[in-house]
Amino acid sequence: MVETSKFGKRTKLVHGGTRRSQYNEVSEAIFLTQGFVYDTAAQAEKRFQDLGEDEFIYARYGNPTVAMFEERMALLEGAEDGFACASGMAAVNGAVMSFLKSGDHVVSARALFGSCLYILEDILSRFGVDVTFVDGDDLDQWRAAIRPDTKMCFFESMSNPTLELVDIAGVAEIAHSVGAVVVVDNVFSTPVYSKAIEQGADLVVYSTTKHVDGGGRCLGGIILGTKDLIRGTVEPYLKHTGGAMSPFNAWVQLKGLESLDLRVRAQTESAGVIAEALEGHDKLEKLIYPGAKSHPQYELTQRQIGAGGTMVSFVLKGGKEAAFRFMDALEIAIISNNLGDAKSIVTHPATTTHSRLSDEQRASLGISDGLIRFSVGLEDAQDLVADLLNGLAQA
Ligand SMILES: *Cc1c(COP(=O)(O)O)cnc(C)c1O
Repeated sequence: MVETSKFGKRTKLVHGGTRRSQYNEVSEAIFLTQGFVYDTAAQAEKRFQDLGEDEFIYARYGNPTVAMFEERMALLEGAEDGFACASGMAAVNGAVMSFLKSGDHVVSARALFGSCLYILEDILSRFGVDVTFVDGDDLDQWRAAIRPDTKMCFFESMSNPTLELVDIAGVAEIAHSVGAVVVVDNVFSTPVYSKAIEQGADLVVYSTTKHVDGGGRCLGGIILGTKDLIRGTVEPYLKHTGGAMSPFNAWVQLKGLESLDLRVRAQTESAGVIAEALEGHDKLEKLIYPGAKSHPQYELTQRQIGAGGTMVSFVLKGGKEAAFRFMDALEIAIISNNLGDAKSIVTHPATTTHSRLSDEQRASLGISDGLIRFSVGLEDAQDLVADLLNGLAQA
């Protein structure tokens, strides 16, 4: 195994966590196996009693390819450990459900990805967990909602699709004053820019389906944190409830990690160029890019992640009709709902990802009919700008 903890991020992303088989292969092996053979009955007995480093029993508990992926992600995040999951939602569910029991109280930001909202709003209430929703960007609301029996604070550090930031350090200070754990869904901030753990997050969750895969191939997710929390609380829940990541998906995303830093930085640079080109455009009611000085949380963005990220949102004048004309006119960007992909992706949240919400909920989250979410890909920035300007001209 290569010891990479002393090296920089890109070196960790290429070499971190590598485990070579007896063949000394260059490309990481896919251990497409559900189980492992014991030399003797006594060895099987011992492994079930006391699982050593790099020993495996069953792929629902752990697998060498998945372990490589977990270790590489943990190195990137600066976390002690990680548990990889079948999808981002398996990771969110695992992080939330492994900690909570009936009677607990949770404070959550209101602006959440639809499936996250379903877990926090619909599922938790069925099990007697009381959840208070707040405007994530308002620390006073977090302070007012917190109670002595609050067990968890949950939020997306940069919200989907309106790109509002939640101050991780600010919420962590409030949460930790009553001993609550801070769970951060950090997808939009990306693991490249994240400093969530030093800022106070106890568990950092990613859908690795997004930037980590980067090519729209596989679902994946991961929960990162201290060895204590991951092995003591998260793993027992996940290994018995079956949220494990497939070794094949782990392999695809392990290879995705090799180029993650380069890709995300290139996408962020293009996002900045696009935001600048669209700022003040007369077909737009509003442009939202956390890396733009016009963003109300520009200072917090710089302090928290030091970059604007790979997503640009904007509101067209003329509502849904204008938004649809704009999307249909685009030549390069595809209409879909993934993000962090090599291909630029345009999404109309009000009629797709957030169509389940009521009109009132959408209004309170700023998801108007003219809102577009744009995931910046790896194409030439100038081609994307031209495509977007042409789309706006036809909107
Ligand atoms: C996509 C996404 C998820 C869910 O991830 P899946 O891999 O699709 O299950 C959770 N949170 C955020 C912020 C996301 O963007």
